[in-house]
Amino acid sequence: MAADAAKPPLPLFLKDYPRDEWMDAADFCEMCGARHHVKVKEVSSDGLYGVVEIMQRHGPRCPMRFEAYPYERSDTAGWEYASEKVELLGREFTPLKARGNVGPCLGCGKLIVGVPLILFIDEGRGELDFCFNCALELGVIDKLRGGR
Ligand SMILES: [Zn+2]
Ligand SMILES: [Zn+2]
Repeated sequence: MAADAAKPPLPLFLKDYPRDEWMDAADFCEMCGARHHVKVKEVSSDGLYGVVEIMQRHGPRCPMRFEAYPYERSDTAGWEYASEKVELLGREFTPLKARGNVGPCLGCGKLIVGVPLILFIDEGRGELDFCFNCALELGVIDKLRGGR
């Protein structure tokens, strides 16, 4: 069966990402454009939550550069999905209902190590998290800027 590239990524859990392997994060430095990286270190027995390592590289003149270079830190990761899907800009998404510090972009499925763009769904039905690029591509940013 051929993979359908146009299909949105299926709901993934932390356990579905490779273990002990550096991956591209969904986000990158806003100042120098360097991509952040993330590695899943531990996953709890429920498969939902765990610990990731984050590596933030920066260009040599980036004002966001830290003394330790590249900057590495650990953080909590994991999430659960809400039971009801929502439609946004002609696409269906399953909102997140709980999340550790690091969670996925619902557009591209990569992990977001910085601050996601969050759309809260009414009545506590969860939130839609996107990386900047996906938010731009999906038209979420235009929507937030008042294009209604
Ligand atoms: Zn930078
Ligand atoms: Zn994304």
